[in-house]
Amino acid sequence: MKFISTKNTDEKVSFREAVLKGMAINKGLFMPEIIPVMEKNFFSKLGNLSDLDIATKVIYPFVEESIAQNDLLEILKKTLSFPTPVVHVAGRVYALELFHGPTQAFKDIGARFMAGCFSHFRNNQKKATILVATSGDTGSAVAHGFHQVDGVEVVILFPKGKVSPYQEYQMTSIVNSNIRAIEVDGTFDDCQALVKQAFADKALNQQLSLSSANSINIARLLPQMLYYFFAWKQIRQFSSKPIVISVPSGNFGNLTAGIIAKRMGLPIERFIAANNINNTFTKYMETGRYMPKPSVSTYSNAMDVGAPSNFERLMHLFGNNPDAIRNEIHSYSIDDEHTLDEIRQVYKSHNYKLDPHGAVGKICLTKDLNVNELGVFLETAHPQKFNEVVRLAIPMLPDSEVDLSGCAKVSIGNNYMDLLKIL
Ligand SMILES: *Cc1c(COP(=O)(O)O)cnc(C)c1O
Repeated sequence: MKFISTKNTDEKVSFREAVLKGMAINKGLFMPEIIPVMEKNFFSKLGNLSDLDIATKVIYPFVEESIAQNDLLEILKKTLSFPTPVVHVAGRVYALELFHGPTQAFKDIGARFMAGCFSHFRNNQKKATILVATSGDTGSAVAHGFHQVDGVEVVILFPKGKVSPYQEYQMTSIVNSNIRAIEVDGTFDDCQALVKQAFADKALNQQLSLSSANSINIARLLPQMLYYFFAWKQIRQFSSKPIVISVPSGNFGNLTAGIIAKRMGLPIERFIAANNINNTFTKYMETGRYMPKPSVSTYSNAMDVGAPSNFERLMHLFGNNPDAIRNEIHSYSIDDEHTLDEIRQVYKSHNYKLDPHGAVGKICLTKDLNVNELGVFLETAHPQKFNEVVRLAIPMLPDSEVDLSGCAKVSIGNNYMDLLKIL
């Protein structure tokens, strides 16, 4: 299978090239040329397969040109070394908990798979530099996923004062290593713009062999399909109801992965794009017009994105047709006040601790779910990771002290010259 650019379908590369390059020419994003459809009996037998078997069968058709099946199995084994359970929360509503990995957010799965692919591909080649912008969770997942991967330097840009202390700790506590976390005096969108500028800089690319670990990298995206299959398998053991999945969304990598899983044949009734007040996508669904705007800080900061990078991929999947998207995806935008209310209520009534992102997902799910359906929201991070916010809703929870004193951090201004100086 080849991967094509969303900007130019004549630009065709192997999986290996797509991963190492990160982004296609003219800021295009790589997409699989075709999406393979699993045989019907794959789904009827899913309950008998292990998660690792499912993962190998789902991913292999995409990578077979670049990774042998045995090697893929090894990469997947390391990626999937923690569970992704479906947990009952209330009524017909379930949480798919994606936070049982080392940095307590779903991004561990994409980052670990990508690190595995990178170390598989980079053998004996010149050193690569991975440049990544983060609103918090990508940075920590990539820092941990790539820690001590030979031949790879990682530079993480995060917005100053806009990540949680816990996230900052996870990024900056790996000192004296191949990982550097840089705080930028700006927003997440500014960090992302700097990364995009670096990728458009041909001389810099030559010199550093730049690659990206944002969800623009297809190696981050593909493994994110897997937990939709795992969730479906778990649910079908106790219910045959149509399944609706609500995805707390920022850059829309998770949702794009869900749509690809559905195109592979996974029977998901529909998806919900759950947004905080950074509602560029919700507005697009209402108006059919895409109007990116600067991001605003909220309690669910991993979703503070004004110009979602995977929007381009969704357009590609739906042929730029808003009505086609509306058929499969519903979208809502939720403010901070309702997010806190939800955390408080769900804890009080159901003794389940939501994180702010999961809370946004659950509210949107409840708004949209029909009586005959079963709903799942992705619990994208552990509540502990956003303890300062969760405690605003549930003050009796203990304070978590984060000690940043031994951490390494470099600060730069929000401009390209400053970035070049530290690269
Ligand atoms: C990254 C992140 C999101 C948003 O995911 P996208 O794939 O960028 O839409 C939501 N919740 C948490 C906790 C995250 O870390």
